[in-house]
Amino acid sequence: MSQPSRTRPDGSATALHEAYDTALLDLDGVVYAGGEAIDHAVDSLVTARDGGMHLAYVTNNALRTPDAVAAHLTELGVPAEAAEVITSAQAVARLISEQVPAGARVLVIGGEGLRVALRERGLEPVESADDDPAAVAQGYGGPDLAWGRFAEAGYAIARGVPWFASNTDLTIPSARGIAPGNGAAVEVVRIATGADPQVAGKPLPPMHRETVLRTGAKRPIVVGDRLDTDIEGAFNGGVDSLLVLTGVTDGPQLLAAEPKHRPTYVDEDLRGLLTGQPEVAVRGGEFVCGGWTASVRDEALVLDGDGGAMDGLRALCAAAWTHAGDGACALDGGKVLAKLGL
Ligand SMILES: [Mg+2]
Repeated sequence: MSQPSRTRPDGSATALHEAYDTALLDLDGVVYAGGEAIDHAVDSLVTARDGGMHLAYVTNNALRTPDAVAAHLTELGVPAEAAEVITSAQAVARLISEQVPAGARVLVIGGEGLRVALRERGLEPVESADDDPAAVAQGYGGPDLAWGRFAEAGYAIARGVPWFASNTDLTIPSARGIAPGNGAAVEVVRIATGADPQVAGKPLPPMHRETVLRTGAKRPIVVGDRLDTDIEGAFNGGVDSLLVLTGVTDGPQLLAAEPKHRPTYVDEDLRGLLTGQPEVAVRGGEFVCGGWTASVRDEALVLDGDGGAMDGLRALCAAAWTHAGDGACALDGGKVLAKLGL
């Protein structure tokens, strides 16, 4: 990538839901967690939409169909239609359709979301390596996916059938903890076959392309909680991003982010869509946001002042990212983040 590395979060005088035409929202850790709505998510999304912003939901989870995801969102209080949900199953189905004959059979290792997406592209889902498939499609199959499905994939791949994966997230959050995700299942097949799949999901271009094709967004903003999928996907697609701290990313990870993982904006939760974003000013090598001043002194992050925690975090991001340049900041942020309760 030839673009210069981001060294601090941007400011925006305009509320983000007015500055951008479409929010491309990640779901887990942004809108809901373990099936329940995250604090302030529902009110913020309804207000952003009433203000004219288009909302689209972009998920690497290939198990559920867009209909099922939209029904879940509607039940939580964010009315959504299936057409507003984009899944990695749709992205991988398009990728496959571009490389196999029309109407081809595709061996499915995964769930209903993948089968529906393949049919939408005119492909025929089949269940056995003996069904003469033109491709193997692997997506998250949920806890009931049988071990024998991996064997089917292995038989087909050994015969030279091209292999595609919806996404490679190693883990998936569940109400009871962290479970193996599709990336872990892909590793099972990779180890057994020695092959490598073509992958569609975030942060790779096929997913971003699918999202832009389906939403027609002109000036989108990606909203996510993960640096290596949501924020990196925005970086690869050349669009702005908002990181919210309601999911898997914490303060130390954000300060240590390498350039492709640095979001345009950072905020506590989805209320950040409804406000402008404060500038981080540079004064004599120090970084000022709200009442806070951050700097690096004697190879340590320093934070002085007081005010809102997010302003302090933005100032610290500027100090850490500037110090790290094109790399990742190795300074310990624990002490200064504790001042902010982060
Ligand atoms: Mg997420």
